[in-house]
Amino acid sequence: MRVLYVAAEAAPLVKVGGLGDVAGSLPLALKRLGVDVRVAIPWYPEIDVQRWKVHEEGNVGVTTLGESDVPVYLLAREVFAETGEHKAIAGTKEEEAWFSGFSDCVVAFLKDSRWKPEIFHGNDWHVARALTALEETSAETLSAWGYTEKNFATILTIHNLSYHSKMLRDAILASDVINAVSPTYAKEILTPEFCEGLCKELGLRKDDLYGVLNGIDYGVWSPETDEKLTAKYTTVTWKTGKTHNKMAVRQQVGLSEDGGMLLGFVGRIDANQKGIGVLVEAMNRLVTLGCQVVVLGTGDPRYEKRLATVATRYPKQVACVLRYDETLAHRIYAGADALLIPSKFEPCGLIQLIGMRYGTLAIARAVGGLSDTIRDGETGFLFTAYSSSGLVGAVERAKGMFSSEPVQWEVMVGRAMREDFSWDRSAGEYVKLYDRAIEKSRRS
Ligand code: ADP
Repeated sequence: MRVLYVAAEAAPLVKVGGLGDVAGSLPLALKRLGVDVRVAIPWYPEIDVQRWKVHEEGNVGVTTLGESDVPVYLLAREVFAETGEHKAIAGTKEEEAWFSGFSDCVVAFLKDSRWKPEIFHGNDWHVARALTALEETSAETLSAWGYTEKNFATILTIHNLSYHSKMLRDAILASDVINAVSPTYAKEILTPEFCEGLCKELGLRKDDLYGVLNGIDYGVWSPETDEKLTAKYTTVTWKTGKTHNKMAVRQQVGLSEDGGMLLGFVGRIDANQKGIGVLVEAMNRLVTLGCQVVVLGTGDPRYEKRLATVATRYPKQVACVLRYDETLAHRIYAGADALLIPSKFEPCGLIQLIGMRYGTLAIARAVGGLSDTIRDGETGFLFTAYSSSGLVGAVERAKGMFSSEPVQWEVMVGRAMREDFSWDRSAGEYVKLYDRAIEKSRRS
């Protein structure tokens, strides 16, 4: 089976959030299943052409996904040439024009490429225009481009409905099959609270809407092999490993070394999704509980400022590092005792999966993929109310166990570390979706 996997970012070439992780790791797992998968992303100026040995074929850059042999096509260089750093962050009006340009180049690539995929797998609003354009392309034209009408199908994966959701409206109607990145999010987006104004369109497609849980790449995210850590550790040595890493994080970010439980937050500073307001409001009480908090993130300047102010108030207990820092992210996953995830909505969420692998339990809101992946009281702590009291209540529970019932805490950590959220668990689901999409396009 031949699949063109199209996204706005793909680690390790370019990444601002979870989409980059997914586009950088799912294709590797598909390849292991025998799929001829190739990736297409925008040719951002910050992609290091020397490091990734990019060569040009016409106006297309060609490289591979990291050290693997999965081909990556870099498209629309001219569209992104003047756009500055990290365009994949959603939010500005201009982005719609850039990604429409990207979509046009993707369709042109399909037309011109000698390699003809059977599946066009588009991710999120960035690729929506291409999905719609393909639906509008006549059978004759497709055939002139070298595609057999009955052997070409499209799939749209929804990673996050909240940005530029209107761009997705037509793509939702046009794609043969649709999926969201967790079973719970697939249900949530049919309801007004989460559908971002697209309840009607999603409702019309609900028979073709699936939920497939994201995985993570344990080649990147494993404390046994992680070169970014100050001390590697296993499921057996995690206690000493974590102690080393905790000290290293405290030293790096300037927290006092005799502090108690260390809580971490890693993510985009997006108050609409990530519950940053809830986190800021909870901070006084978390400090009063005797916790330390380290925040790593970048995004909305107003909330960055609020976070920086709290950190100034509690220099020994709260540290906010407001930048994108891959190495520090790995060190926080290894050094923190627990991660705070007070999200308003969370399509899947990867940081709780990463945290579990590193023996760092999530204290998370029971929403979307967080409720699909965390078992309350067994592999993490869930709370329901979207409020600082909701978050603080869950931290109190976790802190109570951490301080007074260390054996039970260790049992939970061991259990969390042994959970399997590798892509090998979910990649097969995508192959099934591809089969369904082909079947569906044959029938229509
Ligand atoms: P989302 O996709 O909504 O951004 P996820 O939890 O799915 O959230 O994925 C976030 C990914 O981005 C994780 O790999 C996380 O480590 C990474 N990340 C987010 N912010 C930063 C940052 N400031 N520095 C380093 N890594 C970050």
